[in-house]
Amino acid sequence: MTDNVRVRFAPSPTGPLHMGGVRTALFNYLFAKKHNGTFVLRIEDTDQTRYVANAEKYIIDSLEWCNIPFDEGPGKNEKYGPYRQSERKDLYKQYADQLIKNNWAYYAFDTNEELDAYRKNNEENGKTFIYNWHNREKLQNSLALSKDEVQKKINAGEKFVIRFKTPQDEILVMEDEIRGTISVNTSTLDDKVLYKSDGMPTYHLANIVDDHLMQISHVIRGEEWLPSLPLHTLLYKAFDWKSPKFAHLPLILKPVGKGKLSKRDGDKLGFPVFPLKYVNEEKGDISRGYKEDGYFSDAFINMLAFLGWNPGTERELFSLTELIEVFDLQRVSKSGAKFNPDKTKWFNQQYMQLKSNTELSDAFELILAEKGLKFEHSYTEKVISLVKERAIFVSDFWDLASFFYETPSDYDTKAVKKQWKESTPDLMKELIIVIESIIDFNSENIEEIVKKWISEREIGFGKVMQPLRLSLVGALKGPHLFDIMEMIGKKATIERIQNAINNL
Ligand code: GLU
Repeated sequence: MTDNVRVRFAPSPTGPLHMGGVRTALFNYLFAKKHNGTFVLRIEDTDQTRYVANAEKYIIDSLEWCNIPFDEGPGKNEKYGPYRQSERKDLYKQYADQLIKNNWAYYAFDTNEELDAYRKNNEENGKTFIYNWHNREKLQNSLALSKDEVQKKINAGEKFVIRFKTPQDEILVMEDEIRGTISVNTSTLDDKVLYKSDGMPTYHLANIVDDHLMQISHVIRGEEWLPSLPLHTLLYKAFDWKSPKFAHLPLILKPVGKGKLSKRDGDKLGFPVFPLKYVNEEKGDISRGYKEDGYFSDAFINMLAFLGWNPGTERELFSLTELIEVFDLQRVSKSGAKFNPDKTKWFNQQYMQLKSNTELSDAFELILAEKGLKFEHSYTEKVISLVKERAIFVSDFWDLASFFYETPSDYDTKAVKKQWKESTPDLMKELIIVIESIIDFNSENIEEIVKKWISEREIGFGKVMQPLRLSLVGALKGPHLFDIMEMIGKKATIERIQNAINNL
């Protein structure tokens, strides 16, 4: 393996980071850490028209929540900085000029109106207009005009862009770490703009220049950038720079298995597509995030790792450290990865079981506090140990365990109808006497004494246990009844049975 692995995550701050973007960051992070390399964050903000002010902070906060921090980036180890392309603005022109000088690029003066007219005209004839080898010498550019004419236009302050002069009819052979060998005939490519009339480089130029200057060894990015690979490969050739290795990650597909999972799918399909909640200040709308929806970041990361990668075994639960150990680009698949929201919940439930009861109690206590409830930490820890198996989110605890904190205020009507018979109140009164007599009020002891009474009285087990459960819980749910009794104590147990007798 390459001795000095340097990878980068290079998002454009155009809005909140989609979970596909987090997956790209994650794979870069895993690859870097696996090879003792460096994970760089570069903000690609050259497109001023799409710039969103709070997006960079959102990206950085997301990486932090996911526990995949960058080693170099804005404000951190700025060895090859600055790491925001807008702050590197002045650096790119010289590279565009170098390409012009070496006949790899040219000035183009065509106005948007002119180009639109060509497009329209072509369309009307059933053709597509492509700015390329085929027609470039008929257009307004430095390949078609004389040196003097070009100089005159530039001196007169006419707007121009710089386009790449794509070679004609060459077979370009490229290697992708995931997809293998790819080849393309350069005649199918257009002459992409490298430098815009607003004095900013385009993504293509800035990306290549920065990857070179930042000594990036591997470019790991989404499949949507695969069509740019030929141009990028040609740019490395044009600059006579060593190209990094490329790996294009498969798309993340909608749960139906067709179509890319988009930013808008979250609201439409009922699950978050963003790591964190995002407030769109302009539009005033809010998109939900995995964090706020109650997902553990390690569960989220574990789920993401499996979108397009697998370890080659049946095992599915991996901590971040374990992922670093087993991650391998060779095991990334070529085909799209179907996103499964239920599986994401499953991961959360699995991680729930791995969390300590004390950590979960800390989180649940915040919810209890909102309800004005304050209990001993050790009590809540015990509650959690009894219900966590059935919980997916911390927010489920209240539903699963409210009766540990409050006397039920209403009772499940269906269950009452079925289980609370005419003879029940008398039985419950007798039961109260039995319970009062129990001195050592622990689960095992209560169980033994209550069961003994039931069999001596020759009453059906359910005839006692179901109404008892209704009295204590308000519904026919919850963990082992005798555990509940021990937890809430003798006094509350008797009170609740009495309550039920009075109310039902
Ligand atoms: N700025 C590009 C993006 O938004 C980066 C693509 C790449 O990694 O080359 O995804």
